[in-house]
Amino acid sequence: MSFTQYDINGLVYHRADSFDAASGVMHGFATRTGGISEGAFASLNLGRSRGDQPESVRENYRRFEAALGGSLQQLVLCRQVHSDRVEVVTESDALPDLYAPTPFEADGLITNVPGLALAVFYADCIPVLLYDSVQQVVAAVHSGWRGTARGISGKAVSLMQEQFGSQPKDILAAIGPGICPQCFETHEDVPHALRELFGDEAKDYITPLPQEKFQVDLKGMIAHTLQVVGLPSQNIDDLSLCTACHPELYWSHRRLGEARGNQAAIIALQ
Ligand SMILES: [Zn+2]
Repeated sequence: MSFTQYDINGLVYHRADSFDAASGVMHGFATRTGGISEGAFASLNLGRSRGDQPESVRENYRRFEAALGGSLQQLVLCRQVHSDRVEVVTESDALPDLYAPTPFEADGLITNVPGLALAVFYADCIPVLLYDSVQQVVAAVHSGWRGTARGISGKAVSLMQEQFGSQPKDILAAIGPGICPQCFETHEDVPHALRELFGDEAKDYITPLPQEKFQVDLKGMIAHTLQVVGLPSQNIDDLSLCTACHPELYWSHRRLGEARGNQAAIIALQ
């Protein structure tokens, strides 16, 4: 299985074929194209807190909603803090308005409530969507290097098991667009953090460079995390687009710093 790129009136986004084949779920990984925001936010900025015009952001959500072919009326967001905290959410966590305060800090959301749309934001960090079509549970995870080093995607799977009886063999995973190893050059802190959790297994995802620099394969590490908690490798798909290699498609925090918009990955049970 792989991903399909959709272009709906210039709004380009991706969906995992495995999720669509399993049916019962609406999901998508946005690019920066197809919205109405201007300047540094051009054009499909879905971030509320980066200084864009609220009316533009609202219209961008309406356009993404139309492209997804589902409803974003019951939207759940979290204040992302590069943690490994995953929250189970229900109707009461849906924002009454797009600009209502975000209820909590977390980097992962899980629900079994149909129609509740879970969103995570990314601009190099890796968005991961999970779908258990048997127990009907979905999750959205924001996995930057800190979250990856804490195994947040695996923790989301474990919480799906505990709370909803999900079996790892039934969980599909879609690893979305994010920074590639060649663009993710780090100091020793990142490989050190990965080795703390994964030990020697981390070394397959770390390439030493001269002058104590490293290239780190976050997506590979996330796929490994998911397999450690029991997902079969064929359940895990990786959209091999790098947010830093493709400035026409994505905002990249590495390239742009704070002067940028935010892409969102969204999932909802139908
Ligand atoms: Zn790259």
